[in-house]
Order: sequence, then structure tokens, then C-alpha cells
Amino acid sequence: MKKRKISIIGSTGSIGTQALEVIEKLTDKFEIVALAGGKNVDLLTKQALKFKPKYIYASMPIKIDGIQNLSSLDEIAENRENDIILVACSGKIGLKPTLKAIDNGIDIALANKETLVMAGDIVMKRARANGVNIIPVDSEHCAIHQCIKNISQVEKLIITASGGPFLRKTTEEMKNATVEQTLKHPRWNMGRKITVDSATLMNKGLEIIEAHHLFGFDYDKIEVVVHPQSVVHSAIEYVDGSVIAQVGLPSMHIPIQYAITYPDRFEGIKSKSFSFADIARLDFEKPDFEKFPSLNMAYNAGREGGTATVCLNASNEEAVMAFLDGKIKLYNIYELVEKMMSSHNVIKTPTIDEIFETDNEIRQKTKELIAKI
Ligand code: MG
Repeated sequence: MKKRKISIIGSTGSIGTQALEVIEKLTDKFEIVALAGGKNVDLLTKQALKFKPKYIYASMPIKIDGIQNLSSLDEIAENRENDIILVACSGKIGLKPTLKAIDNGIDIALANKETLVMAGDIVMKRARANGVNIIPVDSEHCAIHQCIKNISQVEKLIITASGGPFLRKTTEEMKNATVEQTLKHPRWNMGRKITVDSATLMNKGLEIIEAHHLFGFDYDKIEVVVHPQSVVHSAIEYVDGSVIAQVGLPSMHIPIQYAITYPDRFEGIKSKSFSFADIARLDFEKPDFEKFPSLNMAYNAGREGGTATVCLNASNEEAVMAFLDGKIKLYNIYELVEKMMSSHNVIKTPTIDEIFETDNEIRQKTKELIAKI
């Protein structure tokens, strides 16, 4: 592979820092064009000194010799020096630069869920029109991407879910869960918001919607199965009954590396060889749709389409933040999302502006409901 020019939007977050660990092992394969971080200026400064990008973008200018400060994420997305941009930030901030990069014909390694959940139709349509590859970083979608050879012959997608920390707890126990208990994810080490989403299984709900857009499957062809060991990262079933699964140790380094080096593969950061015997057993079970109402909320929102998934995402995020701030209980998240979904007037084919307007409106209304709890 010739040296690939890459920028990372969200280099100081969980995915961004792990991506730099991958790149550190593959320095002869990558040249970093730009790094963009949020408020963590100290870490971004350290990264910039170490990886020497041409450009940086931070919430405040950082003075480093030979490195130029940019004034917006759009400047990264418009820069055609890039072969690929890793969109590793979380939240709606990822959507506009992703669209801009697609319009400029730059491939995307996508870790930002909101991009597809909020605007999957628009994003995928523009990517197809511009011949842009969108390679998923999310481990389940990355697994499916690796399994698919002939997509027209795939019957269904099977997305695995670890089940989170409340898999073996009762609904009552879950209702009274503290922030600390919720943040104890058994398998993956991730940011706080996504860890809460993993505990409520809303993360899996958002992933159903992501999968629908990425691979173009109807919702009744997307199945969720609980698999506590998180070794089978997802699977697909072909029309002839053959099932292909992607298997590996649960480390985000693997899907990140796959996405930024696709279609090539390198040894990179791999720490040890995989052994089925060491894993010993793999369990699978149906998800509990009653204890985790998020799954049906996501299926319903996805089937509804348009701004329904914007409403789902925005109300959930506000509720999760309120939970993390100690303002509401864990189960209030479901109640808030449910209330917002049932009162939302869906726009079927929204523009990007309408998507952002809906997002703002839903957040505002969710905050008003939170204030009353
Ligand atoms: Mg995932």
C-alpha cells in the first residue's frame, strides 16, 4: 500500500487515541494530514508534537512550529490531500464534515454513529453518487463489511450484542442502577455516553439503524442476538443457509485498523494470536425486548424513517447526559425517548437543515421534560 494520507476528526477521544496507537505501529503506511480534537487541548498538543500533522484544529489555537491551525472542521473535510478521513468524534458534530468530505470524493472511515442515524439516506446517496467508500469502524458493522462478498445473495444480517452490565440483572435492579454500575461494561472500554447506551441496549438500537443504511437491508432482515463473550462480532446469512461470521478478540484496534487500511491488511498492533480453545465457549441468546425497550424503539423509528431516527437519537442523548449528571434514573431514559417519539411529527424526507432543526427542537423538549422529573 502506498502511504495513505489521513486526517482524524476526534483524535483525542476513545476511537481517535486508539487509531493513533494503530498508526504508530504502521508509520510507514500513513501520513497524517490533520488532527482535530475538542476541548482536550493538552492531549491534542502532545499528539501533534508526536505525529507532526500539517494541520490541527482545536477549540483554541495551539502554537507549534510548522503546524498550521485551522478554523473549522470543514477545512479538513475539504482538503483533497486526504485519501481518507477517520470520523471518530461522537455526536452530531460529525455529520457536516462527513458530508463535505464525501462531496470532495474523500473516503470515510466512519466511527460516528450519528452520521448515519440522523442522515443515513442523504449520506449513503451522496457517497454512492461520488464513488466514496464508507468503511465502518463500529465493530459489528466492520464485521459485516468483512463477511460480505456478494451482497445480493445475503439473506439477513445478524448483529451481536454483549448484553451490557444488566444482562443478568432484573428490571427492578436495572431501574435502581447507579451511574457507576452502568458504566461498568463487561467487554469494551469506551466513552461514557456509548457505555450508557450499551447498558440500555440503545447502542444496539442505533446500530440496527446504522446497518440498515450501510448495507441497504430492510429492518426485518436485521436481527440482534445476545452474545456475552463479544468474540463473534457479527454475522451474515446467505440465501443458501451458509452463515459467515467475523470472529476475534474484543479490541477496537482491529476494526479501526481494518477501516483505515482497507482493502489491505497488516500485522500492525495485533497483540496475540487468536485461539478458540482459549475462548472455550461461545453463548448466544435472544435479547429481552421487554427489559430493553430500546430495541423496539429503534426498529420502529427505523421503519418510520425520516426524522424519526433523529428524534430517537436526540432524545436519547439528552436523557443519557441527564442520567450521567445524576438528574434522572436509568429507566427514565426509555420513558423520555418514548414520550418524544410518540409526540414527534415525522418529516419523511428531510433536508440537512430540517434534520438539524428537528435535532435542536427535540433536545429542547427533552430538557423541558427532564426538568419536570
Ligand atoms: Mg458497536
